[in-house]
Amino acid sequence: MPAAASLPNFPTGEADSLFVEDDDGGTLFAGKEGLISIDGFAGDQLIGDVLLVDPGAGRAERLLRSGSAHNTLLVTERCDQLCVMCSQPPKKTHIDRFDHFEKACKLAEPGSVIGITGGEPTLYKPRLLDLIEAVLTERADLEFHVLTNGQHFDQADVPRLRAPLYHRVSWGIPLYCHVLATHDFIVGKQGAFDRLHASFSALMQAGARIELRTVLTSTNLQDLPALSQYVAARLRFVESGSVMQLENIGFAKNRWSDLFVDMRRISPRYPGPSTRPCCMASPSACSTSPGARYRRRIGRWLPPRFLTGNASIRRPAGIAANATCSSAFSSGILMTRPA
Ligand code: SF4
Repeated sequence: MPAAASLPNFPTGEADSLFVEDDDGGTLFAGKEGLISIDGFAGDQLIGDVLLVDPGAGRAERLLRSGSAHNTLLVTERCDQLCVMCSQPPKKTHIDRFDHFEKACKLAEPGSVIGITGGEPTLYKPRLLDLIEAVLTERADLEFHVLTNGQHFDQADVPRLRAPLYHRVSWGIPLYCHVLATHDFIVGKQGAFDRLHASFSALMQAGARIELRTVLTSTNLQDLPALSQYVAARLRFVESGSVMQLENIGFAKNRWSDLFVDMRRISPRYPGPSTRPCCMASPSACSTSPGARYRRRIGRWLPPRFLTGNASIRRPAGIAANATCSSAFSSGILMTRPA
């Protein structure tokens, strides 16, 4: 939604709306279909954003925020897993809005990364891949990061995912444990571990970029070192790994006392002389390059404090996957419990 001053020849595009005025109650825009009044926001809180406006429902939804290089689209709330700590508990209903999302993505800030999340986006895999391809074909400056439970890729997808534009797509896929039964228990679906590995096989053959994501819970904490060895030995094509804390919403909220592992209580007490600190504890001691490390909690970046949030270790060019994963996961920090 551009400001009037920036649009001398308004309208410049089908989706543009012109800022008219604002006051304490809200903001008025003029769009192709008529006037749009949005309550509760001043003009400078909306100008440049991409909004999905549904006049019939009296609703406006901000899809992309101006000035942000990272926006995430929730494409569905359906999911075929039922993870014990799900922050966005699945719903049964789905409204297909992929066409709107495609238009929105094409209006994204130059050079931005667009997140896709759910629910499970690949329940609508053909629609999702159509969207990705349409956007990346038109916008060579954009990238996608898709959060998926990895249950729906197969060999038939390999030729399509081999297309060069998929180098600008990374897939964030959870693996919670190297033990089949434990992974299946955490995601609430029998057979999920095996199906996930079938997807890994297809994605590996396609050369897909994969970010492995592991949420720590009391159920899988003790298996993390073994998981790291499993990843290093069997999933060497993984580009990066993220070890994440629970979010205190959704299912995790009511199960917090059962699931939450307070890493601050665990790590400082561990005196083991033979252990190597990983970058979760000591960035200066990490063997990866500084540019390869980052640390964030979902939605906002955190200062580099000691184990306060999620920690991620990204594999830099030239460093083998097992070197990075080992330094991240084999630390004694993750193997100890409070005295
Ligand atoms: S956390 Fe699990 S249940 Fe929730 S949306 Fe993701 S895969 Fe589905």
